Amino acid sequence: MTIRPLERAEFESFPAVPGGPFSVYVHIPFCLRKCPYCSFFSLPAEAAPSMGSYLENLKREALWYGASLPPGARGETLYFGGGTPTLVSPDQWRELIPFLKETLKIADDAEVTAEANPESLTEERCRAWKETGVTRVSVGVQSFNDGELEFLRRPHDAGRAEEAVLLAVRAGFSAGADLMFGLKGQTLGSWASSVKRALSLGVDHLSLYQLAIDEGCEWYSSPPPGLADGYRMYRWSQWYLPQKGFTQYEIANFSRPGRFSRHNCAYWTGTPVIGLGAGAWGFLGGVRYKNEPDLVLYADLVLERGRGAAAAERLEGEAAAREAAVLMLRRKQGIRFSDFTARYGGEILEKILDTFRREVPRNCYIEKDGGLSLTKKGMRVANAIWSAII
Ligand code: SF4
Repeated sequence: MTIRPLERAEFESFPAVPGGPFSVYVHIPFCLRKCPYCSFFSLPAEAAPSMGSYLENLKREALWYGASLPPGARGETLYFGGGTPTLVSPDQWRELIPFLKETLKIADDAEVTAEANPESLTEERCRAWKETGVTRVSVGVQSFNDGELEFLRRPHDAGRAEEAVLLAVRAGFSAGADLMFGLKGQTLGSWASSVKRALSLGVDHLSLYQLAIDEGCEWYSSPPPGLADGYRMYRWSQWYLPQKGFTQYEIANFSRPGRFSRHNCAYWTGTPVIGLGAGAWGFLGGVRYKNEPDLVLYADLVLERGRGAAAAERLEGEAAAREAAVLMLRRKQGIRFSDFTARYGGEILEKILDTFRREVPRNCYIEKDGGLSLTKKGMRVANAIWSAII
């Protein structure tokens, strides 16, 4: 069996939230302007109806899920992503976060993360987040080099990015920065200086991404020429960051001890995720669903049916096991054989191990102590490994 798209009638009856731990992702789909490499669902802020009515619909959708929470359900992470969550005003945050925590039974010790873009992260927003229990702030820095930021057409410069990270650090959040490699004009030296500058500001967490030009973005039909080869930059980061006390706990993520993202780990371990908001993804009862990526249609769905899910697929049998294997291998821990066998059976595990032994170079993985994980080299060539497994 493979991945099976579900008919509307079928996914309207898919299970709500199972008992036990779950995560919540909230999508804020507005940005100051659209970046040319962006294929996420996001709209320029001025093209959108008021943020207020969007947040009202988010709350309605949360009420629908809240009403279906079984006993024992416990929200362990809450994540505000986008888009640009920092376009939500401080007063709107003061209302939204307590509402979601109460409605969705978010635990007192939950990890609460907000993504922030440098141009709109302010002291007042940090204050509102502090008051409402946000614990992590992830700043979309991308680069500390003005030329690289101009190339990406980001609305901030390096100085503003630095101020934003410092605001988050000084406000007492566990602060992280997203940085991008493989940019036009970028050198190993400019990449290294962006990474070092982030560390000097006191971040706990770094997410390092290669520039990807995927279908749906402005650059897709005519990609910019002269992009730098990112391989060396990524390899340098794998060498440098451990010396500074950072662990590479996942292919794109490095953190100081204990400061990894619990929310991201929920995705990689198959924890149920409620997705709220237009264009959000969720994962419940083995069903992966996507909310309507259109503000008006999303609002209509929420008003009519209580939630904005517009498409869904069920992962079954071997396809589900292979996808789970890939997600587990993204993490430093890799696949633990006993856990994997308990969930998916020993036969598929043997097939995956056989693929590794036949097709993946020995210096790309380590098989020992009842588990298999990728080496640093394996993480650098992970896409080729996924093709062999899936
Ligand atoms: S700020 Fe982020 S979400 Fe918004 S358009 Fe740029 S890349 Fe996309």
